[in-house]
Amino acid sequence: MYTPGYNLQKGAEMPDIWDVVVVGSGNAGLCAGIAACEKGASVLVLEKADAAMAGGNTKYTAGAMRFAYDTSDDLLPLLANPDDPRIPNADFGAYPAATFKADLLGFNDGAPLTPEQEILVTQSYDTMVWLAGHGVTYDPIWARQSFEKDGKFIFWGGLTLAAENEGVGLFDMERAAFEKLGGTLQYDAAFASLVLDDGRVTGVRLACGTQIAAKSVVLACGGFESNAQMRADLIGPEWAGAKVRGTPHNMGDGLQAAWDAGAVRYGRFEGCHATPMDFFMKDFGNVDIPHGERKNYRKISYFLGLMVNENGKRFVDEGYDFRNYTYAQFGRAVLQQPGQRAWQIFDAKVFDLLYAEYRFHDAHFVQADDLPSLLAQCDGLNAAAALDTITAFNASVDDAVPFDPTAKDGKSAETDGLAKSNWAQRIDQGPYRAFPVTGGITFTYGGLKVSDRAQVLDAEGAPIAGLFACGEMVGGVFLNGYPGGSGLTSGAVFGRLAGTAAVSQS
Ligand SMILES: Cc1cc2nc3c(=O)[nH]c(=O)nc-3n(C[C@H](O)[C@H](O)[C@H](O)COP(=O)(O)OP(=O)(O)OC[C@H]3O[C@@H](n4cnc5c(N)ncnc54)[C@H](O)[C@@H]3O)c2cc1C
Repeated sequence: MYTPGYNLQKGAEMPDIWDVVVVGSGNAGLCAGIAACEKGASVLVLEKADAAMAGGNTKYTAGAMRFAYDTSDDLLPLLANPDDPRIPNADFGAYPAATFKADLLGFNDGAPLTPEQEILVTQSYDTMVWLAGHGVTYDPIWARQSFEKDGKFIFWGGLTLAAENEGVGLFDMERAAFEKLGGTLQYDAAFASLVLDDGRVTGVRLACGTQIAAKSVVLACGGFESNAQMRADLIGPEWAGAKVRGTPHNMGDGLQAAWDAGAVRYGRFEGCHATPMDFFMKDFGNVDIPHGERKNYRKISYFLGLMVNENGKRFVDEGYDFRNYTYAQFGRAVLQQPGQRAWQIFDAKVFDLLYAEYRFHDAHFVQADDLPSLLAQCDGLNAAAALDTITAFNASVDDAVPFDPTAKDGKSAETDGLAKSNWAQRIDQGPYRAFPVTGGITFTYGGLKVSDRAQVLDAEGAPIAGLFACGEMVGGVFLNGYPGGSGLTSGAVFGRLAGTAAVSQS
């Protein structure tokens, strides 16, 4: 039984049947909403959280978005401030589609590019331009993705732009665009299940019991990263105890509802995005601290030092690649260590190179003038074994190669046959610092199989009529890793596709 004219905003005229109901107000959901409104549809976005927590993981991000582009000039139409005096001195390089694809392939464990990855890459730039046309604009990531050389700002790693005012700014700009086009956003409206009629989705049921009729439904309510039971069941038992870097609301509600409606499970469930995090952070991300500080529980400068587990042993090649390409895997690696923790150890030579998150007022670390005193302060660490590891590491550092943090310098060292392939400097200049870390989950990779129009597919590969999905819910976009900044772009690409197709099918 539908609730007729479900009146969400007092006094507003609401349709009895919405053209499109979108579940979730993150980047993917709002992109779907914008695309559907653009086609003239009546669109309702339902959001489980209140106004402060709406926007899900999107709000926790730095707003960094990876997309293919051929020249520096391609970036100009996307910039919030093209007159920034630094722009003429910026070298954004190029990030051709082939390089984006190669970066994704680097995480595919030898598997070919998936159809979802093809869509992500080939539609990434057009989608950025489309969003910019709706007033969603970007700033170059001066601090994290560029370095200054001979008066020029050289960008590296293919990740050059972030939404103005980061994730909160992205949410604000997208919400404004959506509402300007006539879309309705309802907070405190938790989706519970899909309503089906003869195999076709005809609406949604809220947790409060209300039913809302819709010609099409777009699911955009995130993965299952906030749900400890689903993490343990679907990723692995060690994930039950992971910290959650973002919203507490992505409980897998939409995935479960779609699977119940016959959608096929698709993607790498044992894969997920995770990163080393402060061992003492709270269980979920804190959206109340200033947005610029929200990422500060993350600890990803390990490439400048080394990481040891409780047994005092290294367990990853900290310098395998630029941190953009390793931190997601290393979050899992830390969770797999005894006690689900490790210590990142640095000497004074690199303190100034550590990311700002290491100077965050709430960063936990110990400091000492000599290594034995430092390691003795690390509760739970086998200090003697850790000292042996560092001594062996220092003895194997390749002095012939100069240290260069702006390139994969090939300056290597090893312990117990495990290399540190780049940026291996001796840890020999006090004072020393040790940061205790654990693994924090960012988002999950397994989800739904969608068509190239974001229709949700069943086990036979047939679309479930009236049902679309986008964002974290789409499986197959990431397999065993993630080039930083691709999550938001994927949400925007599949959100736009879902919103557009939902209207043409309504
Ligand atoms: C700390 C952090 C930093 C990140 N940094 C970046 C970055 O810089 N660049 C990048 O590309 N990616 C980044 N990511 C990943 C990025 O956040 C996600 O890929 C992206 O935000 C997912 O968008 P989404 O719209 O699918 O999900 P979300 O943004 O999480 O939106 C889902 C929404 O659905 C709502 N919801 C959930 N269940 C229900 C329900 N039952 N009923 C109604 N609503 C519901 C949630 O409250 C939420 O608002 C980061 C993630 C985190 C946590």
